[in-house]
Amino acid sequence: MIEHTGTSTTRADCLAWDRAEPLSAYRERFLLPEGVIYLDGNSLGALPVQTPSAVESVIRREWGQGLIRSWNDAGWFAKPELLGDLVAPLIGAGPGEVVIGESTSVSLFQTLTAAVRLRPGRRVVVAEERAFPTDLYLLGSVQEIAGGLERRLLGPDGTLDEILDEDVAVVLLSHVDYRTGRLHDMAAVTRQIHEAGALVVWDLCHSAGAVPIDLTAAEADFAVGCTYKYLNAGPGSPSFLYVAPRHHETAAPPLTGWHGHADPFAFTVGYEPAPGIARFRIGTPPMLSLAALESTLRMWQEIDLAQVRVKSLALTDLFVGLVESTLGEWVSEIVVPRDHAARGSQVSLRVEGGYSVMQALIERGVIGDFRAPDLMRFGFAPLYLSATDVWDAVAVLGSILESKSWQEPRYAVRNNVT
Ligand SMILES: *Cc1c(COP(=O)(O)O)cnc(C)c1O
Repeated sequence: MIEHTGTSTTRADCLAWDRAEPLSAYRERFLLPEGVIYLDGNSLGALPVQTPSAVESVIRREWGQGLIRSWNDAGWFAKPELLGDLVAPLIGAGPGEVVIGESTSVSLFQTLTAAVRLRPGRRVVVAEERAFPTDLYLLGSVQEIAGGLERRLLGPDGTLDEILDEDVAVVLLSHVDYRTGRLHDMAAVTRQIHEAGALVVWDLCHSAGAVPIDLTAAEADFAVGCTYKYLNAGPGSPSFLYVAPRHHETAAPPLTGWHGHADPFAFTVGYEPAPGIARFRIGTPPMLSLAALESTLRMWQEIDLAQVRVKSLALTDLFVGLVESTLGEWVSEIVVPRDHAARGSQVSLRVEGGYSVMQALIERGVIGDFRAPDLMRFGFAPLYLSATDVWDAVAVLGSILESKSWQEPRYAVRNNVT
């Protein structure tokens, strides 16, 4: 471990720490451009070395040669469940409890509606006021479709105690907050929600692949998460979706497509849900994205998430320590829970001109992102980042702030994606 962070941490300390660090060899398992320090793996994970050839093989061999036969011969039809089983150990789920779905947004709609339907008579849904917007937008649709459910929002300083009562059907929570990096105690919060008779849907987008998760021990009801963030399955790769086995036979997802049917190839007129997690499937899965997902999940099977967690906390501690001790003059707030138990794998900085500073930083090869209205956000993906990367990133940020080079007008030009 790096013993002290701050002015006393030298680049040589970081190099020494990296040499002894057990996950350091994984850097070679990713194709990252020369000269880039990638602090945005929480938004779009890096490309694993084996993924291009895995995808090409599916294209050339399974699609090009196998054609329609690959639905059977290459096991295409069962891939959403098979890959769900590879996600399962990363989130503390068992086999048959996870399936690969559509986008996270669609999977949120599937699980939220199914959860609300399991609590008929309860008229309230709860979500976090500052949740990722798509979560709130989808919840709005669910409320309307379910006959006008009321919404109660949990403010940043609010507690569930004040909000939970016998009217609450479902609580939607982000395990790690995408702006502040706050990590919920999943087991304690789930228990509290269950004591009020409600169900929980966990959004794992910013925790899957960064934080050890145990949905089974927490007795969670539903969960969804992205595969293109820390899990590195590539842009637009589909989400995963977890349903506790106790809900499998009673859950009624709203989007009843033929792949969720008990016997899709009977082509019957009436819908009959498949037993188990398969009823959460909808239609034909994106096989090329699943090829990329499979290639990264095979690598994840050998990774110890406890080691990932240790490294993640060391890297965020180092970043915070270096920013505090060397950039205090320019950084008005470091947004990150100081308590390790409440921290995800990211740190945000409130800096004057944050958007422009981030653009200047990206031009220098240090890639993070910006979350309106005023946060520069840095994600720490432990598989391909080193302590030395963190040290170098803070040094580049310092030189931009000190020279005020970020004030050049071109850095203020707004991109579509920030
Ligand atoms: C990234 C993210 C999403 C993304 O949803 P998509 O449907 O994949 O675009 C949703 N919710 C949260 C909390 C996220 O962090």
